[in-house]
Amino acid sequence: MTPERRAAHAKIVRPRPDPADVAARNEVFRTQAAEFGLLFRCPDCAHVILPAKRCSLGYPNEHLLHSTNAVEDDGEFMFCKYFEASE
Ligand code: SF4
Repeated sequence: MTPERRAAHAKIVRPRPDPADVAARNEVFRTQAAEFGLLFRCPDCAHVILPAKRCSLGYPNEHLLHSTNAVEDDGEFMFCKYFEASE
């Protein structure tokens, strides 16, 4: 593997965010989601198969099924771009 290719595959290591900052960002998100009636989780999606607790499109959905957070512990946003509100 060339050095250029190795560099392209190198994992970008970012410092872990302060858990208090992540919690604060998630609290703001939850407040605004409730205020605007934002639906974003699997249970509200047309693609979820609730009895089986899985996504009909086959996406990993563990986070979106069980969490009301938008930001994970590592500071990354978790959001499904295939979400479609069910009726
Ligand atoms: S499409 Fe996305 S939001 Fe909808 S069930 Fe699948 S993983 Fe969840």
